[in-house]
Amino acid sequence: MAETKKYAGGCHCGRFTFEVNTDLDTAISCNCSICTKRGLVLTMVGPEQFALTKGTLGEMTKYQFNKKVVDHLFCPDCGVEAFGTGQAPNGQTMFAINVRCLEGVDVTTLKPRPVDGRKY
Ligand SMILES: [Zn+2]
Repeated sequence: MAETKKYAGGCHCGRFTFEVNTDLDTAISCNCSICTKRGLVLTMVGPEQFALTKGTLGEMTKYQFNKKVVDHLFCPDCGVEAFGTGQAPNGQTMFAINVRCLEGVDVTTLKPRPVDGRKY
């Protein structure tokens, strides 16, 4: 079992902040249309590993496309998508955390695993 660490993160303006327990060795970089445009590096976690510490999901702007199974959430003030949420094939709620929004993480030191999101 990989080792997880607790990270703090948030959008750019600070309206939304969160804590996440994750192992950044599992980070992914996806080639789907939105990840490409946003330059996302993601870590996927379950709801027990994620907690909003400031703001609520309902205050965030939601964007959906394609099969509309993922809520891409972003801050209506600064426009940063710090995370998204959706359901895994097994029905479990998952959060996709934008690793670039975590404090104290140097994304250039990570080796995100490429994921072929374009085929979905
Ligand atoms: Zn913001």
